[in-house]
Amino acid sequence: MSTPPNLSHGRSYLAIPGPSVMPEAVLQAMHRAAPNIYAGELVQMMPGLVADLKRVARTTHHVAMYTGNGHAAWEASLVNVVAPGDKVLVLATGRFGIGWGEMAISIGAEAEVFDFGLQAPLDMDRIAQRLAADKGHEIKAILAVHVDTSTSLRNDIVALRQVMDDADHPALLMVDCIASLGCDVFEMDAWGVDVMVAGCQKGLMVPPGMSFVFFNDKADAARAKMKRVSWYWDWTPRAHAEEFFQYHGGTAPTHHLYGLRTALDMIHAEGMEQVWLRHQTLASAVWAACEAWSAEGHFAMNVTDPAYRSHAVTSLRLQSPDATALRDWVESQIGLTLGIGLGMAPPGDPAWHGFFRLGHMGHVNGQMIMGLLGGMEAGMRALGIVHGKGALDGAAQVIASGA
Ligand SMILES: *Cc1c(COP(=O)(O)O)cnc(C)c1O
Repeated sequence: MSTPPNLSHGRSYLAIPGPSVMPEAVLQAMHRAAPNIYAGELVQMMPGLVADLKRVARTTHHVAMYTGNGHAAWEASLVNVVAPGDKVLVLATGRFGIGWGEMAISIGAEAEVFDFGLQAPLDMDRIAQRLAADKGHEIKAILAVHVDTSTSLRNDIVALRQVMDDADHPALLMVDCIASLGCDVFEMDAWGVDVMVAGCQKGLMVPPGMSFVFFNDKADAARAKMKRVSWYWDWTPRAHAEEFFQYHGGTAPTHHLYGLRTALDMIHAEGMEQVWLRHQTLASAVWAACEAWSAEGHFAMNVTDPAYRSHAVTSLRLQSPDATALRDWVESQIGLTLGIGLGMAPPGDPAWHGFFRLGHMGHVNGQMIMGLLGGMEAGMRALGIVHGKGALDGAAQVIASGA
């Protein structure tokens, strides 16, 4: 008997919701000898990096960079404007909203958590009622996640701002765009967002290790009123740096800056609107396939209303343990890695094996998405997982008419 072919050799594809696929150009830009951190190219690069980051966030205000992951930006954003004892309202539509709220509690804030569950977007009426009841304006900040990467719910930040304006509430609007920035449409200034956090390893296509806190003058004024902010996390010197080391609170993440420079060049060469449109079209292809697979009732998308689905990530369900079986099959047999479910069921619970996620953020194109979906189709056939027909036809039609 001959050995069956091993179809996993070749270029592998990591389709998890972060870290995302790194462009070769980004990796090559990082492959260099240590640069001088006191003078020359790296130092001169900073003003351009700052300007081009702000163009991605659609803000003319400020950005502070941190040599850390998204959690670092979460903490940085909080400690600059939220003092121990301050009240914050946390709006959670998944694990990441809960996590940011836990971090607020850990720095001594009094966090009131509205948990909207794992399948529903923010309930604006409930938020409006709470703000109307806060006559003394005790709530200092509202924490919301634009795209919660666990559920793939995308919240309507414009509507949230409107609810705050209608209530005439002065709280800071703080938004986590770690998953969505550079994928889903986001307009920091036009939408009235006061503080926004992002990481470099998702839509920005750079290996994990840098994160960003964008803030406007209203947030900066709140920072100025703080009794104290610890030296490292203080956004003031980072955003208003006079010396190079101040941008980074010490030695710069040298190679990340080169990677980021290249990634921003790629993003702006394509154009923000085009980047958003590409993600929207690729996400629509993913949804078309998932809708077809769902016809047999075994497979399901976590978010039913397309208006609340992210263009960066898609959370999916299969009967347990089929999600884990599918992930294992595509990884071992065809070199494709899908994301684990996150926050949908406790680890150790058999239900955990019924959830998984697809990342389609950053450096992804039409053939990659067709390969991702085709690989999933092959896996479900190989494993005998019940699934509706016509998924690849549906996705191909979206790509064909979108291109
Ligand atoms: C990835 C992610 C985080 C956490 O970022 P880390 O880099 O893992 O610390 C937080 N919020 C959202 C929405 C994310 O997608």
